[in-house]
Amino acid sequence: MDDEFLPVAAPMLVGNERQYVLDCLDSSWISSSGAYIGRFERAFAEFCGVRHAVSCTSGTAALHLSLLALGVGPGDEVIVPTLTFAATANAVRYCGATPAFVDSEPETWTMDPEQVAAAIGPRTKGMIVVHLFGHPGNMEALQEIADRRNLFVIEDAAQAHGAEFRGRRVGSIGRLGTFSFFGNKIITTGEGGMITTDDDDLATSMRLLKAHGMDPNRKYWFPVIGYNYRMTNVAAAIGLGQIEKVAWHLERRREVAQWYREHLRSVPGLIWQSEQAWARHVWWMFTIVLDDRLAIARDTVMAQLSASGIDTRPVAYPLHQVPPYQASSQGQRFPVADRLARRGMNLPTSAGMKREQVVRVCDRLAQIVDEAEPARAAQASPSASE
Ligand SMILES: *Cc1c(COP(=O)(O)O)cnc(C)c1O
Repeated sequence: MDDEFLPVAAPMLVGNERQYVLDCLDSSWISSSGAYIGRFERAFAEFCGVRHAVSCTSGTAALHLSLLALGVGPGDEVIVPTLTFAATANAVRYCGATPAFVDSEPETWTMDPEQVAAAIGPRTKGMIVVHLFGHPGNMEALQEIADRRNLFVIEDAAQAHGAEFRGRRVGSIGRLGTFSFFGNKIITTGEGGMITTDDDDLATSMRLLKAHGMDPNRKYWFPVIGYNYRMTNVAAAIGLGQIEKVAWHLERRREVAQWYREHLRSVPGLIWQSEQAWARHVWWMFTIVLDDRLAIARDTVMAQLSASGIDTRPVAYPLHQVPPYQASSQGQRFPVADRLARRGMNLPTSAGMKREQVVRVCDRLAQIVDEAEPARAAQASPSASE
């Protein structure tokens, strides 16, 4: 058997990244001014179908700048899904505001609109929807709730570059969209982030805040307290190389996901996100959940895959379970997120994966399930998904 280590994620630098970075070095434009920043921002805005794309240092900075520009501050509440990466809620706390957690929908695993409606209180200013693992959230239902109550919607699209809701790219639907270009995301700049919006005033405000709050028309005059969240020209050079090839990245990920679905269909007791009719999923991480019909523990499956050189990642702990947020979530129940986190794992997913690598993961998974529960495997029924 081929025991070559298979990482859960790997960046693919298949375009002009190297050439553009060398150009930065040769020209000595390595700081946060330089032509690649504007070029990357314009290309990204066009990709999302928005007027403005504002680059910054990370997806976390993008969330922080978005909330600041929308005026979120102490005493405010912002609704966020409990099943997300910690940065979504942490950025709310950076502003002195409080995240209010809601559970996921069972089908898409994204924020449940009905529970959002129920979580709205007098201090609620808005919500952050997370397009989890590349599947868009239910934007129509969420936007309708937001409009009715005059709330903002931020799209945390850190995991979903290029995903679509009814043919519209994520990042172009809410007031603001935020993206991460960390090394394991769909496209990367190593570390980096971007905010997308059609709102001229918000874009201006975020450009001010990300550059020390310095008045662009009056040097060394600081009308507000700002931050240093500026992307470097070197990072933008990598980003431009990546975005020029984004169609390739998205196509390859769809193919990898298709192979997973094809080869996992015959394995009993596995569930994955079902791509809704209104959605275009971009498969940041192909993620499986062990059905309760299987008695085997998720961590046992992960350990056995790891022993065969197959790297996986557990679905993140829902934020209501982690220390900074436990107390404020006491007494609330999040059964869908709890189950996904307890029984779910991300499988290796990258644009560079070959079919034989996907087959290797699927065959090993089938074998693990079969060895753990031979009786069940024999009376296999088709998977619940698709
Ligand atoms: C990765 C990620 C972030 C944070 O992005 P960084 O660039 O690492 O700061 C925020 N939200 C979600 C949903 C993420 O997956």
